[in-house]
This record gives sequence, structure tokens and C-alpha cells, in this order.
Amino acid sequence: MIINLKEDLHIHCNYNDHSDVDLTIPNVIKRAEDLKLERIAFTEHVRKSSEWTRRYLNELDQYSQVTNIQVLKGFEAKILPDGSIDCPDEFISDDYFIIASFHKKYDKEIWLNSLLQAIKNPCVNVIGHLAPEAEFTLDDEQIYNIGKSLIENNKIIEINAKYIRPPLNFLEIFIKLGVKFHVGSDAHRLEDIGDFNRIMHLINFIEK
Ligand SMILES: [Zn+2]
Ligand SMILES: [Zn+2]
Repeated sequence: MIINLKEDLHIHCNYNDHSDVDLTIPNVIKRAEDLKLERIAFTEHVRKSSEWTRRYLNELDQYSQVTNIQVLKGFEAKILPDGSIDCPDEFISDDYFIIASFHKKYDKEIWLNSLLQAIKNPCVNVIGHLAPEAEFTLDDEQIYNIGKSLIENNKIIEINAKYIRPPLNFLEIFIKLGVKFHVGSDAHRLEDIGDFNRIMHLINFIEK
């Protein structure tokens, strides 16, 4: 088993405006304990302008001390057109678990360039729900170049259960190159936590 299904490294909580209201930090931890998960990551949507970050981190500190589950404190930050990430500078640091994801549509050239920049960012840990936009595809050489950069920069590719990503043709090339993977539910509801049924075909593809 290369992928540990006893961890969920992409979980939101009620610090954003679109998760279920009962997706509180203690409820997430309780749910993870009930599921006997070993490790979870809180990765709330952040922007440079977010004002709740200190409160969120303090609450995470408080509750992560009273559970046996390993709790990673982090953020999901969107990749900006120049390849930087939309995260306050103070959190772009090795102390936090950072998922960089596309949340806005870019044309192919901007998408590719900004992705390669984000992969080079030493404080980004993971690329979240990676897939091209519906308007374009990537050829094998372009996917290969992404994979090579992931390896060179020691970045992980998330197998995302909400969006069922990345696509198989990406995975096929990444597997050949030896890219590392882990799973994330991208939970916005308590019942999403640790539920990887929607991506079992991708996990089996990696494990075969
Ligand atoms: Zn996302
Ligand atoms: Zn997310």
C-alpha cells in the first residue's frame, strides 16, 4: 500500500462561508477519531486578506493537543496568474501545510506557467485537485514536464475525492516518474471526511 487511507489531508471547516455550519474544528477531530484516522490536515481556504487566520490557528492548537490524531495545520491557497499563491506572507512558511490549487480559470499558457511556479515554491507542500480546464488538454510531454518538476521540487499530488482528480492520463505519467501521492476528501461536510469511495479507481490504479 503506497497510499494511506487512514489519513485525510484536505479538510475544510466552518471558517469559510460555504461549509456546513457543524463542520467545526472539534467536530472534525471527533469524526476523524470515530473513523480511526491517523493523520488529518485542516486546509481552510485562505486569501491574502483573510482576517480569521490567527483565531483558526489558535483553535487548531487548542484541539490538536487533546487528540491522538496527528493534526496538520494548514491552508488551501489558490494559484494566482503570476504563479504566486493567495496566502498571507506570514503563513507561506515551512510551519504550515500548504495546498496550492487552481480556483480560477486561466488559459492554457497562464495555467501551465503558474502551475510550474507554484511547484517551485518551497513552502507549497501539495498540488490540490490538479486537472486541466475543460477548454484545453495537455500533451504527454507537458504532463511529463509537470511530473519532473514535482519530483525535483519534492511536491505531492493529491488524489482529490471531491473533484475526482487528477485524470488518469496525468496519473499514468506521474506514476512512471515516481511522483508521490496522498488522499484528500476536500470535505465541506462532516460525512465527507475520510470518504474515498469516489476515488477508489484512481487509488487502485496507483496501487496496481
Ligand atoms: Zn480547492
Ligand atoms: Zn478544498
